[in-house]
Amino acid sequence: MSGTDSFEEFRSRIRGEILTPSDAGYDEARALYNGMIDKRPRLIVRCADVADVIAAVNFGREGGLLTAIRGGGHNGPGLGSCDDGLVIDLSRLRGVRVDPVARTVRVEPGCTQGDVEHAAHAFGLAVPAGIVSTTGVAGLTLGGGTGYLTRAHGLTIDNLIEADVVLADGRFVTASEQEHPDLFWALRGGGGNFGVVVSFLYRAQPATNVYGGPIFWKLADARAVMQAYRAFLPTAPEKLGPFLGLKTVPSCAPFPEEIWGEKICAVISCYNGPVAEGEAAMKPLRDATPAPILDWMGEMPFPALQSLFDPLMPKGLQWYWKGDFVQELTDAAIDVHISQIAQAPSDLSLMHLYPIDGAVRRVGVGDTAWSTRDATWSMVIAGIDPDPRMAGDLKSWGRRYWQAIHPYNLGGAYVNFMMDDEAEGRIEATYGPNHQRLREVKKAYDPANFFRVNQNIRPAD
Ligand SMILES: Cc1cc2nc3c(=O)[nH]c(=O)nc-3n(C[C@H](O)[C@H](O)[C@H](O)COP(=O)(O)OP(=O)(O)OC[C@H]3O[C@@H](n4cnc5c(N)ncnc54)[C@H](O)[C@@H]3O)c2cc1C
Repeated sequence: MSGTDSFEEFRSRIRGEILTPSDAGYDEARALYNGMIDKRPRLIVRCADVADVIAAVNFGREGGLLTAIRGGGHNGPGLGSCDDGLVIDLSRLRGVRVDPVARTVRVEPGCTQGDVEHAAHAFGLAVPAGIVSTTGVAGLTLGGGTGYLTRAHGLTIDNLIEADVVLADGRFVTASEQEHPDLFWALRGGGGNFGVVVSFLYRAQPATNVYGGPIFWKLADARAVMQAYRAFLPTAPEKLGPFLGLKTVPSCAPFPEEIWGEKICAVISCYNGPVAEGEAAMKPLRDATPAPILDWMGEMPFPALQSLFDPLMPKGLQWYWKGDFVQELTDAAIDVHISQIAQAPSDLSLMHLYPIDGAVRRVGVGDTAWSTRDATWSMVIAGIDPDPRMAGDLKSWGRRYWQAIHPYNLGGAYVNFMMDDEAEGRIEATYGPNHQRLREVKKAYDPANFFRVNQNIRPAD
């Protein structure tokens, strides 16, 4: 191991665990959520505290090691790990502290959404984030963060108050509107480009029991449902977060056997309020659509809705992701979606449209790094299957689908819905008017591009 610090000295300073390829537990430690990605780091440092993170950053930088930051390990292209380098693994740092008076939640960077939801729910609170409880909060937040509460309360970054960060030179800083405001601006959408975030402080929002769940329609009705949903969304109260999906009914309980394997159009919603209000909010959509084949909306605790899909998506499946921001869903685009989903290579493969309107639009384009605040949806196409032999089919379907639909969409995409094979210019298109400023902040905080295992923002020239 190279570096000014010998490996043994480094090991003696780490309170957590260091794993190398010869250690028992290495394969388990390097495994990522996406089974399609198989990276073999030289070293995995499972940090026990911030001191370990500082030591690991210094060791990686001084040793010239390619260095990745791992939060929840859910990233599509596996950007929480790297081949032949150092992984700063934060998965043991899972503390959550709720302040019910200030209505804030302090979160360590190895937390999953489920960790945060569990802790906050006891106080009738929630941090707006994604829709699957196993997702890592750190990577999700730094990319932006969209979910059921987005329309009412904004992106996850719109609820971030401050972040503690270990910078590329090993310094520890707190970034907020008051301290290092340029860094705080860049962290809100700029991904893991600027340092290792070791603590997040969020504003929490009231959420206890919600009225939520899926409604499924036959694919033959998808055109009518998508048209109705498109008209409904701008009129729906912001307390309602309804996303649209094209997918296949899973061939397992609790789904009725007679519809297993059927392609469907789904609207999966969460109304953050009483059932009667939620039913009233959904009424215009129900009135404007054909009879569904399944309507499972009901009252449930918010964390229950957040973990509804967990059993269908265990760690280790093959995933291929493509994304886009979408402003308008035209009839022509709807036809493309329907014809592409009909060719999906597996039952788990899907397309989702997540609303990013409402409160997202009340934040200015230049107020955070995440700039596409005039979009209506963030689209994801995901080819998913348990069988590694399906990897080629999942990729070619995802690419074909994306090529067919992209002409109807905006140039950029949510960075957390990208793989590592995006065309030249996608990062620029994603950040748009904020890209150059991001490059300046990168130059100020990480001029040597030490943190480059990410959707990379190159330091300004
Ligand atoms: C099943 C599933 C459902 C999802 N649903 C949603 C959703 O509803 N909404 C949504 O917005 N996204 C969603 N995502 C996407 C998700 O936001 C990304 O996969 C995200 O990268 C996950 O973060 P992580 O911490 O688990 O990632 P990791 O794989 O651990 O890390 C990904 C990248 O984040 C950066 N990073 C991680 N931790 C830190 C840190 N502490 N400091 C600095 N950089 C760090 C690093 O650059 C790393 O390369 C979903 C993903 C999956 C797999």
